Amino acid sequence: MAESKRDYYEVLGVSKDADDDALKKAYRKLAKKYHPDANPGDKEAEAKFKEASEAYSVLSDPQKRQQYDQFGHAAFEQGGGGAGGFGGFGGFDFGGQDMGDIFGDIFGDIFGGGRSARGRSGPQRGANVRTAVRITFEEAVFGCEKEIEINFKETCTSCNGSGAKAGTSPQTCTKCNGKGKIMYTQQSFFGQVQNVQTCPECGGTGKVIKEKCPDCYGTGYKTVRKKFKVSIPAGIDNGQCVRMAGGGEPGTNGGERGDLLVEAVVSQHPIFKRQDTSIYSTVPISFARAALGGTIRIKTVDGEVEYEVRPGTQTDTKVRLKGKGVPSLRNRSMRGDHYVTLVVQVPERMNQAQKEALRRFDEAMNGTAPEEAKPKKKGLKDFFEK
Ligand SMILES: [Zn+2]
Ligand SMILES: [Zn+2]
Repeated sequence: MAESKRDYYEVLGVSKDADDDALKKAYRKLAKKYHPDANPGDKEAEAKFKEASEAYSVLSDPQKRQQYDQFGHAAFEQGGGGAGGFGGFGGFDFGGQDMGDIFGDIFGDIFGGGRSARGRSGPQRGANVRTAVRITFEEAVFGCEKEIEINFKETCTSCNGSGAKAGTSPQTCTKCNGKGKIMYTQQSFFGQVQNVQTCPECGGTGKVIKEKCPDCYGTGYKTVRKKFKVSIPAGIDNGQCVRMAGGGEPGTNGGERGDLLVEAVVSQHPIFKRQDTSIYSTVPISFARAALGGTIRIKTVDGEVEYEVRPGTQTDTKVRLKGKGVPSLRNRSMRGDHYVTLVVQVPERMNQAQKEALRRFDEAMNGTAPEEAKPKKKGLKDFFEK
């Protein structure tokens, strides 16, 4: 097991003598890149994120780092992680464990605060909430207004969010003196180890509620169905999010609400494909139109446009319709192009008159009728008649 684990310094891409700043910087970079919020559903990114987080949690702790330098990964495999293993490291919110304290300030920087709502007793920003809204291809191109309905944790009006029964107020937790965490000393293979734990009495808030508010059962909020109007900007792509400030979970101890992130799920279009700000489509044209040239009509997101086909147009000819693509999200005045592939169609079924016309055409092209060509090109004709 120990052999398959990558070296922690290697994981973070730092040298053995890297200082705290360098560690933090390296970890911040990796965490930002591989964080599950930024890579939903990506198992590889998740594993990389866990690996980097584990490496950072060890190397950022002077005592653990010394143990690691001396014993390698084996330092943390004694008796099920006696010296600070990763038993409670399953999820990503690091809730309640001392992980919250280790990562708190880093995630605060990256994600605007409040990753570990429980690890501390000060005001904590509420968690972000994610939801999705399905929109059509055209709605993504031109933008739209959508109404969504989500479960929303509204501050309880009876207790103003404190969770305490009217007329009472939360008391400072006596077990942790309002700090929200407690220190304890653990005897381990390596001697005494100081550990920090979230206070089990108050769950890290530093406050205990003696008499719970009967309206919200002491939680401080009520869950209601709430409608939001979401303004989807023109040019949004599948998987991109609209952030609605304050639409997330309520903060604790007076912290602000998290945000609501609305992900756009764009339906496929029967004709158009999209890549960034470019739109692609395929347009069939008749053999005669391709040969003779002329005006054809091409469907775009702005409606049909006329296009002048040159005489002698070959199949797979690419046509660019300038400015008929998707507006740029970053620069509203910029708009991509629409690329059309013209595909020349060979008729599959023809009536007698059409066949006759085509025979006459063929005759004109070759100078002779096919029947008369029979004796000269016997082999070739057999081939075509099969
Ligand atoms: Zn209440
Ligand atoms: Zn406490």
